[in-house]
Amino acid sequence: MADCIFCKMVNKEINTNIVYEDDDILAFRDIAPKAPVHVLIIPKKHISDMTKITEEDSKIIGKMHLAAVKIAKELGIAETGFRLVNNCLGDSGQEVMHIHYHLVGGRPLGDFVD
Ligand code: AMP
Repeated sequence: MADCIFCKMVNKEINTNIVYEDDDILAFRDIAPKAPVHVLIIPKKHISDMTKITEEDSKIIGKMHLAAVKIAKELGIAETGFRLVNNCLGDSGQEVMHIHYHLVGGRPLGDFVD
């Protein structure tokens, strides 16, 4: 998608702080971190939000979870714990319309909903 900021990151048109990459997934540091570790995990394929996933995307979604655990281990939060969050559409506050998980940790995270 030409006007998608996360697609631009996938295409290396925008510099970003990459922490993990494979054929299907890119993960990078959030520009406005809410915790000591705050990484965004995205599929390279453009999917606007969680309601648009299909059966054929199930492998990619699974790979995003595996990447989250791998990154959590590498960044030292697998033992202390972390949160993996997807914001989906309006009420959730989704701002970037390219599906992503927030991997956050490195401090006690408090209540799930603020
Ligand atoms: P959401 O509200 O779930 O759509 O989250 C979007 C996230 O993308 C926010 O946490 C932003 O801080 C983050 N973000 C937006 N632009 C960038 C960027 N250029 N590099 C890294 N993170 C970004």
